[in-house]
Amino acid sequence: MNDGWTCARCEVTVRWMPGAERPKQPHNWIKDGGKLYCLACQRERAAEAVLEDLPADAPVKDKLKLSSSARIEFELRRDPELPDSKIAKACRTSMAAVRKSREQLGVPAPRLTKAKA
Ligand SMILES: [Zn+2]
Repeated sequence: MNDGWTCARCEVTVRWMPGAERPKQPHNWIKDGGKLYCLACQRERAAEAVLEDLPADAPVKDKLKLSSSARIEFELRRDPELPDSKIAKACRTSMAAVRKSREQLGVPAPRLTKAKA
């Protein structure tokens, strides 16, 4: 029986109302190596992945900086159209940091207003 979806990392579970139409997979979740991950955990795994490359005794300041930019990069690659303010909030960082990452990664900012024809 499929009793909902449980994230392999944080164990959050998504369930649907009885009788509701079940999507194939919860929005923004991914399956990786046979395990399911919610969006927040995908972001954290991206941050953890960059920290693995650092020596264990690296300064905490460096770790925070690296993991923060990894989260931003994850969001920018996932959805480049997401406003900087939303990315900053999701990654618990500043809009300035998001803008800087956009520049470094060459991800153009979303166009919030339609260009006049
Ligand atoms: Zn999770």
